[in-house]
Amino acid sequence: MKRAVFIERDAILNEVRPGPKHQITPLTLEEFKVKREAKEPLAKLKAAGFILVATTNQPGLSRGYQSRRELDRMHELLRRFFPLDDLMICPHDESDHCPCRKPRPGLLIEAAFKWHLSLDHSYVISDKWQDAEAARTAGCTSLLVDSPYIGQVHHDFVLPNLDVIAEFA
Ligand SMILES: [Zn+2]
Repeated sequence: MKRAVFIERDAILNEVRPGPKHQITPLTLEEFKVKREAKEPLAKLKAAGFILVATTNQPGLSRGYQSRRELDRMHELLRRFFPLDDLMICPHDESDHCPCRKPRPGLLIEAAFKWHLSLDHSYVISDKWQDAEAARTAGCTSLLVDSPYIGQVHHDFVLPNLDVIAEFA
């Protein structure tokens, strides 16, 4: 069984604009800015033998304001820049009640099946409570980067930045 690090896309791999309750996610390639400082920590995790899986909720796909083509172009850029093994998307809206929209753990469980992962020995990195909750439900250890979006749900560790997290995992 392999170990994975699941990485929330927004604010960890690409820049977002801060909003009062939610981050504002980029919708076009033009707006999409890769976080270059994440490159080295991800390379370290990859070298340590982790499968790297980015995860993202993209409700704009079903709500109609995110074009699939534009999303594919953004994700092509991410895959070129980071050593990602996989990039998993929930395209659903809250009202679809799907199993994969975080905080639900569907993307993690699907990846575990696809990549033969031991979720008990895997980590989730994010700056948001939804990923901590998905980690808890799936049995992964959550490592949160400190942010205003951590909320009150269970998380395992809050660390100051991605460099510290990469050393920790
Ligand atoms: Zn979904």
